[in-house]
Amino acid sequence: GAIILWLRQDLRLSGHPALAAAARTGRPVIPLFIRDGQVDGLGAAAKWRLGQGLESFDRRLQGIGARLILRSGAPEEVLKTLRAETGACDVWWTRRYDPEGIAIDTALKESLKAEGAIGKSFPGHVMFEPWTVETKTGGYYKVYTPFWNAVKLRDVPAPEPAPKALTPPETWPESERLQEWQMGAAMDRGARVLRHYAKVGEEAALTRLGDFAQDWIGDYVKNRDLPAVPGTSGLSENLALGEISPATCWHAGRRAMEEGAAGAETFLKELVWREYAYHLMYHSPRILTANWREEWEAFPWRTDPGAPEVLAWKQGRTGVDFVDAAMRELYTTGTMHNRGRMIVASYLTKHLMTHWRIGMDWFADCLIDWDRASNAMGWQWSAGSGPDATPYFRVFNPDTQLAKFDPKGLYTRRWIAEGQGEPEEEALQFYEAIPRSWGLRPGDARPEPAITLAQGRERALEAYQSRGF
Ligand code: FAD
Repeated sequence: GAIILWLRQDLRLSGHPALAAAARTGRPVIPLFIRDGQVDGLGAAAKWRLGQGLESFDRRLQGIGARLILRSGAPEEVLKTLRAETGACDVWWTRRYDPEGIAIDTALKESLKAEGAIGKSFPGHVMFEPWTVETKTGGYYKVYTPFWNAVKLRDVPAPEPAPKALTPPETWPESERLQEWQMGAAMDRGARVLRHYAKVGEEAALTRLGDFAQDWIGDYVKNRDLPAVPGTSGLSENLALGEISPATCWHAGRRAMEEGAAGAETFLKELVWREYAYHLMYHSPRILTANWREEWEAFPWRTDPGAPEVLAWKQGRTGVDFVDAAMRELYTTGTMHNRGRMIVASYLTKHLMTHWRIGMDWFADCLIDWDRASNAMGWQWSAGSGPDATPYFRVFNPDTQLAKFDPKGLYTRRWIAEGQGEPEEEALQFYEAIPRSWGLRPGDARPEPAITLAQGRERALEAYQSRGF
């Protein structure tokens, strides 16, 4: 019988253990994507980006004689129906590590078994599966550096090339139409602008990795902190949907390291931060929803998502240059430089004393590289409530950070139109992307900060100390 290959966050042909194994069997393979509750619950930008990714991946599959079958519903029901229609006995997939995903997959494996079919899962979304990395006492890692030391010398299997062909079933089952899923429906005007920035699909990802490994990795250490310089790989949006495998990135980094590229090891360390996020999510899923350090539950977080200062933060008009530039970059491009993410997260959770969950949710709505594990880890790291986090009393000063990492003001000029005689293209694109209901215009006056940087810092530190932290 045929194999149903249930695809989720693994929209690629190369470096795909499940797909490679299915191709090797010579059996017919039916690639399937299910629009389930998790897909429907995605943030606006991530959902739009997934739609683009699915379209691109279907074309890739057609290149090897296959196609992507689209169905909506609860996975167990969809699979039952499709198996009945096609006579397929087995369902294969790439493992995921979030609690809801694990629950669905485990239950599915059981029910398939009860019907005499086989549910088979494969690695591929991470290089070091969470349960394979243990401390000496058998626990999980609560600090990054020892995690890095534990994995850095491991053999990562070389990614397999894309199969040349997949055996098609005798007749292809019906597929729903992607257009009818309306994956961009929640995007308002932003999708038009995002399209300009997104690098969709496996081919784009491989090209991007090649360019990065050739031209940028050498100076990665110096450039990666400069928000105005395209000095990082930009692969997070592709990794999020599995349009490229982490192992492919890892091997490119290792090769560059062997060729003496100075920044290569730092790049590998960043890839391992992603691994670490999955390690934490798997072993301690509370990181996704609650203060990971339980004592932080007592912190007097502000929790009103509609508070004026929160709205100003979301809309990039706090009056603090670095924060506003970064928030506008987020809304316009669907990504934000890592330095910006750290600054805006620190500003929201410390200067504005607002719960990190509010920031995390806004990122989830705006990012095209949204990754649940990395987003939660990043927010709790920034807020001080997470494992291996930056201490709460270390409050980034956005102005000092700007002087250090954007001394010529290139980044702020790129993103902030107000006060510029001839604003840059990106700064104007922000106004094309935002909903009209925000009522913002490039000629608006720069807003005054709700609280000065010094006062915000003091207030946060007082709250911190008064709770006996
Ligand atoms: P590069 O510098 O080229 O790094 C290569 C890859 O390593 C990245 O693509 C990414 O997969 C991984 N990586 C790098 N830094 C980190 C990190 N700090 N944590 C985890 N993985 C990392 N990353 C996401 O992919 N999705 C998110 O939703 C996300 N939310 C974040 C929220 C906050 C508050 C913070 C502080 C960070 C967040 N990050 C997130 C991590 C990081 O900012 C991005 O991965 C990075 O900016 C992506 O750019 P790049 O692909 O050019 O990275």
